[in-house]
Amino acid sequence: MADVLENLRQARARIDAACSRAGRDTTEVELLPVSKTHPDAAVRRAAGAGYRRFGENRPQEVARRAAELADLDLSWVAIGRVQTNKAKLIAEHAAELQSLDSVALGEALERRLDALGRTLPVLVQVNTSGEAAKAGFCPEDTPAAVATLRACPHLEVRGLMTMAAHTTDRDAIRSSFACLRDLRDRLRDVYGPEFGALSMGMSGDFELAVEEGATCVRLGSVIFGTRPAQA
Ligand SMILES: *Cc1c(COP(=O)(O)O)cnc(C)c1O
Repeated sequence: MADVLENLRQARARIDAACSRAGRDTTEVELLPVSKTHPDAAVRRAAGAGYRRFGENRPQEVARRAAELADLDLSWVAIGRVQTNKAKLIAEHAAELQSLDSVALGEALERRLDALGRTLPVLVQVNTSGEAAKAGFCPEDTPAAVATLRACPHLEVRGLMTMAAHTTDRDAIRSSFACLRDLRDRLRDVYGPEFGALSMGMSGDFELAVEEGATCVRLGSVIFGTRPAQA
């Protein structure tokens, strides 16, 4: 855990270097630390370095961390699968949902958010690898899904998220990211600059993602160390 600050510095330097290779401004790319499974103390260290937004993949963890770390002014970004019966936890405790992967979930969130009188920024998750185990809309279905979700007044649909192909083949990973960027570009032409977010890239592939246009990279193990496998 002593290394969290150094890990953040090094990851940020790698993001910035990838930006300069790609001719991008470093302020365009957010480093989102993914704290899942790591102790609250590790989050506190990262918060001490100025990080305010943290990724969590389970709705119950979003709620628990929000309560446990309420003394810090932190925001919780939900990045994992959400069953529709957990929409309430997300509506109450998340600052953003990056893994909106079904219209049914969007509609469940819409009802909860309406009742709470708040809006929620969301990214629509796309399955760019075609792997059966991965969540998300397939690329062809994404424009229609975005149009439907935009009709929910309490959802602010701001862009797209993906997890790349699970492979060491750099070209396959790069084409997952390029696919997401192309989709985003097409939808941004329709909906305007508010539809700009591209959350893509994890510990093993974030430099490629930045080169391909990521605006948010979600980094877990490279910041907090390896974690036990999650169910
Ligand atoms: C766990 C997780 C990450 C971070 O993974 P690392 O490989 O540890 O960086 C990113 N995105 C999602 C959706 C995750 O579940």
